[in-house]
Amino acid sequence: MNNFSLNDVERPKLETPNGSDSILLHSCCAPCAGDIMEAIHASGIQQTIFFYNPNIHPREEYEIRKNENKRFCDKLGIPFIDADYDTDNWFERVKGQENEPERGARCTTCFDMRFERTALYAHEHGYTLISSTLGISRWKNMEQINDCGVRAAARYPEVDYWTYNWRKQGGAARMIEIAKREQFYQQEYCGCVYSLRDTNRWRMSRGRDRIKRGVKFYGADEIHIKNIAEDKPND
Ligand code: SF4
Repeated sequence: MNNFSLNDVERPKLETPNGSDSILLHSCCAPCAGDIMEAIHASGIQQTIFFYNPNIHPREEYEIRKNENKRFCDKLGIPFIDADYDTDNWFERVKGQENEPERGARCTTCFDMRFERTALYAHEHGYTLISSTLGISRWKNMEQINDCGVRAAARYPEVDYWTYNWRKQGGAARMIEIAKREQFYQQEYCGCVYSLRDTNRWRMSRGRDRIKRGVKFYGADEIHIKNIAEDKPND
C-alpha cells in the first residue's frame, strides 16, 4: 500500500505568464524542486533545471544537494545544467553582510547573484522565462525572492521571471510528500556557512545537538518502518 497520497493529485494545468512553452528553472535543492518540477512536467511545459548555488557550504554538502537534484532530473528525463561553484565570488559579494539574519540583506545579495546567473544563461541560450524553486519553502520570504528574480530578468528585455506562488493549491504539502516518496536528502540549514553557524547557535541555545550533515533523509523512518512491517510474517 502506498503511504503517500500523490497518486490522487489532480494538478491544475499551469499557463506561463508570457506564453512560453519552456522555462529555465533555477533550483536550490531536490526537496524544494520536487513538486514544482512535477507540476511543470504535468502541464506539458518543457523545463531545464539550472543548478547554480555557490552559497552552499561546505563543498561536500553542495555535492550532496546537487546530486540529489540531478537524480530526480534523471528520473523524469529533465535536462540538468550543472553551473559553477564559484564560492570566491559568492564570499566576495556578501562581504560585510556576514552577520545579517536570514531573510535579511545577505539573502537578497545571495538571491540576486544566483538569479543574475540564471537570467544570463537564459539570455545566452534562448529561454524567455525563468523562475526559482526557492519560493516554495515556508522559511523564505517569497516577496524578497520575487523582487530579486524580477530584477535579474529585467536585465534582458526578452526574459521574464515567473512570480508564481508555488506554495498554493497544496504545493507546500506535496513538496514534503514528494521528498518522502523520493527519500531526498534533508538539509537542516539554508546553505551558507553563516546559516550553518546561526542554526547551530540556535540549536545549542535550546540544548540541542549541532547539525550532523549528510545523514538525514526524508521519509527514511517511515519507509524503514513500512519495510519492517511488510517483512513481518503473518501471525
Ligand atoms: S541564509 Fe540562505 S539565502 Fe541567506 S545568504 Fe545564506 S544561503 Fe543565501
